Amino acid sequence: MSTRTLSLTDDLYRYLLATGVRESDVARRLREATATLPMARMQISPEQGAFMQLLVRLIGARRTLEVGTFTGYSALVVAETLPPDGTILACDVSAEWTAIGRPYWEQAGVAARIDLRLAPALDTLDAVLAQGGAHRFDFAFIDADKANYDGYYERALSLLRTGGLIAIDNTLWGGAVIDTARQDPDTAAIRALNLKLRHDPRVDMVLVPIGDGLMLARKR
Ligand code: CA
Repeated sequence: MSTRTLSLTDDLYRYLLATGVRESDVARRLREATATLPMARMQISPEQGAFMQLLVRLIGARRTLEVGTFTGYSALVVAETLPPDGTILACDVSAEWTAIGRPYWEQAGVAARIDLRLAPALDTLDAVLAQGGAHRFDFAFIDADKANYDGYYERALSLLRTGGLIAIDNTLWGGAVIDTARQDPDTAAIRALNLKLRHDPRVDMVLVPIGDGLMLARKR
């Protein structure tokens, strides 16, 4: 028994994946293909994907956005759980990485739900806001360059409806958030955003210790 979150041994983690997570065959194959790449650490874990799927379903999300698509695993798992008319506005700057995911999106039959925008995400989100996108989204996943996290958060908050959910990845940042020797812009940006959300009256929040830390913020 424990009154705090367990540290997972390798064996316990394997049990968690085998017993506590449902992952589609297509998603597993994309995850395994991504794991062979040099940037593989940027991919979210299967238990985090399953957790996000349940969140998306719980809030009845239909219109979603993603900042930072990488090879498309998170977009795939969210798209799999959306209703048939659901959409993901997926923002990324890499044609190379996102192209890896597209065949898997097609195999899963969800490619039409994913609207990939290859441009700096702040530009894309500002354009959507300028076109009247405010309060029209249900869910946002933020997992891109950390120095811009605050800008992504503020735009996502404007784009979400009341009761919508923002999930922000890497908010424990491998433990660097408590390492005073780490003063680089990425780490500083994550620390600042975590502290800001802790006191932000616009949202309900909790930082969930799954993956590399997933901050959840529900728009009030
Ligand atoms: Ca990440």
